[in-house]
Amino acid sequence: MWTLQLKSIILSCLVVLPSICHANDNSQADIIDKISSQKDYSDEQVYRIYSDNTTELLRDIILPIVKESQYDIWLRNSKYVDIQLHKEDMVKIVDFQQGILDYEVFVEDINEKIEQTMPSENENENNNDILGNLRLNDNDQIGFSTDDHISEILGDIFFNEYRNLNTIEIWLKLLQETFPDFVKLEEIGTTPQGHSLNVVHISAHNYIDNPDKKTIIITGGLHAREWISISTACYTMYELLLNYGKDKKATKYLDSLDFIFVPVFNPDGYDYSWTTDRLWRKNRQATSIESCPGLDIDRSFGFQWAKSHEFPCSESYNGEVPFEAQEAQYWDIYLREIKKDYKIFGYLDLHSYSEEILYPYGYSCDALPRDIENLLELAFGLAKAIRLTTKKNYDVIAACKDSGSDLTPGIGGGTALDYMYHNRARWALQLKLRDSGNHGFLLPSKYIKPVGRETYASLMYFCGFILNPEI
Ligand SMILES: [Zn+2]
Repeated sequence: MWTLQLKSIILSCLVVLPSICHANDNSQADIIDKISSQKDYSDEQVYRIYSDNTTELLRDIILPIVKESQYDIWLRNSKYVDIQLHKEDMVKIVDFQQGILDYEVFVEDINEKIEQTMPSENENENNNDILGNLRLNDNDQIGFSTDDHISEILGDIFFNEYRNLNTIEIWLKLLQETFPDFVKLEEIGTTPQGHSLNVVHISAHNYIDNPDKKTIIITGGLHAREWISISTACYTMYELLLNYGKDKKATKYLDSLDFIFVPVFNPDGYDYSWTTDRLWRKNRQATSIESCPGLDIDRSFGFQWAKSHEFPCSESYNGEVPFEAQEAQYWDIYLREIKKDYKIFGYLDLHSYSEEILYPYGYSCDALPRDIENLLELAFGLAKAIRLTTKKNYDVIAACKDSGSDLTPGIGGGTALDYMYHNRARWALQLKLRDSGNHGFLLPSKYIKPVGRETYASLMYFCGFILNPEI
């Protein structure tokens, strides 16, 4: 049903930029086929099980009853585990515990929640009015009757819903066409399934001459199912561009800083989450087991790398050697070679869910970050900027506590956050976006704009922090 509205977006592209849209090989029939083949989760639920020791909970209570390949941990912290498993397995666990298990149903109907993240039909009506006002100019380039229509197509309409990979790629090209003096798309590699790994370098006043400017990097979508991280990366970059010349702060920050966005760090996984399995997490790279492709990109980076799992079918499997995930490898080469002269001052890695701001390190609580007072000031500053924008309270915590490596040393090794903080970025944080309610990864699309707004506010704070001469 959401195909109608997708058609509108693609139609808008067909109207305004034919050369780009020819790259779109998804016919409407293909899209319908793909959507109807989404994995069915009607036999499963997500449960929140409370425990003072989640390591023991998993080892002594869950694992004796359910094989690891039969459950999926959505979130784990020092108080509870959100775990997706078969309803019958949960009955067995509750019986095994003779009624003393402290738990609640976190997601009752997974399929229904998945549906709520997909584009809806009625958006199409509004789009047609707007599309009617689009026009081509004499050179067959994008033309809009007023400036307002640029923001309607690129902004208001685009952010009404989550967008699939193909639509995001088209949108990025439109963004480059619309802001040619600021936006430079760079393809840094081709994924195992042949998608482009795209980086968006945003720079005012000629990006080639700017390596001396301090640079902030924002990445989204390392984990495929965390769709809000992708929409939010797109939203913040769009706001930044839109506000240049209109808002004093945004203008100053874009004049003084460069920005590198990677909105979809895991294109293969993201595409798969739209076509086949909404809850897919890893990339789609081949492993030693043919029926179990996929590596956890976040745990593939080469700082304090540790093998996370023996079994390739595990959701946390990160390969046999550091940088085995091609996306992580491309990124490492890109930073070391193409951007070697750039001074990376800030790194924000967007994930979901839980409304938390994590500071390094993730691999161990014994490794203290440098300059901890200022790093915490930055993290709390981001949290305050969010609270002042949408009244949401994000917690600030050490990444090691979030990953559980304080309870089980060596549980997962280094992450993208650790790698960036250690190797390149003066300041680095991970933002775990909304929500804290019971949507988990399946945050409905009506939250795209509020989450975008609060994250943009936190990015503005980050920029001010970096430009503060006293830091
Ligand atoms: Zn994640």
